[in-house]
Amino acid sequence: MRAFVYNGLPARVVFGAGALAKLPEELQRLGATKALVLSTPEQRASAAEVARALGARCVGTYDKAAMHVPVDTAEEARRVAKSLGADCCVTVGGGSTTGLGKAIALTSDMPILSVPTTYAGSEMTPIYGITEGGAKKTGRDARVLPKSVIYDPTLTLSLPPALSAASGMNAIAHAVEALYSHEGNPIVSLMAEEGIRALAASLPKIVEAANDLAARTEALYGAWLCGIVLGSAGMALHHKLCHVLGGSFNLPHAETHAIVLPHAVSYNESAAEAMRRIERALGAEHAARGIYDLEMRLRLPMRLADIGMKESDLERAARIATESPYPNPRKVEYAPVLELLRNAYQGHRP
Ligand code: NAD
Repeated sequence: MRAFVYNGLPARVVFGAGALAKLPEELQRLGATKALVLSTPEQRASAAEVARALGARCVGTYDKAAMHVPVDTAEEARRVAKSLGADCCVTVGGGSTTGLGKAIALTSDMPILSVPTTYAGSEMTPIYGITEGGAKKTGRDARVLPKSVIYDPTLTLSLPPALSAASGMNAIAHAVEALYSHEGNPIVSLMAEEGIRALAASLPKIVEAANDLAARTEALYGAWLCGIVLGSAGMALHHKLCHVLGGSFNLPHAETHAIVLPHAVSYNESAAEAMRRIERALGAEHAARGIYDLEMRLRLPMRLADIGMKESDLERAARIATESPYPNPRKVEYAPVLELLRNAYQGHRP
């Protein structure tokens, strides 16, 4: 076994169908009495329901969370939190809503109580991102790590099947890169492999029957594990590419992850132990092809061309993704990365 560093992050998790009922108790544990509930406009009704359940412990809702946390939204939400005298943020939603809570926590030290409703995993990480002038700046800060997380699979029943599939593959991408991370370790690998297994087993059932609570529960459990490894181990080429494609070319987050993943895995095929673990978790003979075939079963878009990427932008994307070095199992070089992007653009089976 190689030498490693294990750096566990603090986390309190309340998991299970109906766990949302524990929210008042969790707020009390944090000593919070004036919660601000955050959501996207699409999830306004869920936020209102949570606010009602909190009664006098809720001072208001803010429902303008948006993808990649635009700086104007972050600043407005901070002003709202301050003017209401909030002492805690309750985020009800996916990565965009959790991200807005993190933007508030970053400048106020306010604790976050997170109620995730997608599989993105942001609730398990100290990573924040804020977008200004078309560029997303990310950083790590212990203040933005939620103090308590309530995973209630009943809240994910409304996540449309296509978005569930893409979001689940976003989670699997965290686990895949954790398996070959330069910061990997045996605990991270255990969680990553189990996270992939749980999601690969449950996502096809969810696509067939979005209200299958047992499958939703298994998927959310897998997403939790994938979130932990995202927060614990540095990511590599795949996440860099998706960051570039989302940030500079405005492609949708979860779908971009799904499309790029089989090609990034193929690029990093030399990471033999990671490949064997991915294969075992998927029950497949070949890691990259196993991921591709799972995505076909999930009826996901398979080509960057399908989600708004222009062929003429591939070279620029490859240049941005390779201009500064970062750890990756295989050297990150312009020509093979451009080839990877071309394959993802055309949706070839690796
Ligand atoms: P999202 O939060 O943008 O949600 C997508 C849409 O689905 C929104 O309209 C949302 O309201 C809706 N939705 C979410 N849950 C729903 C449900 N259960 N039922 C019905 N509708 C629902 O999407 P996401 O993929 O979860 O998050 C993407 C963002 O999160 C990106 O900005 C990404 O960079 C960020 N992210 C950050 C981290 C981190 O560690 N900081 C990790 C993962 C993702």
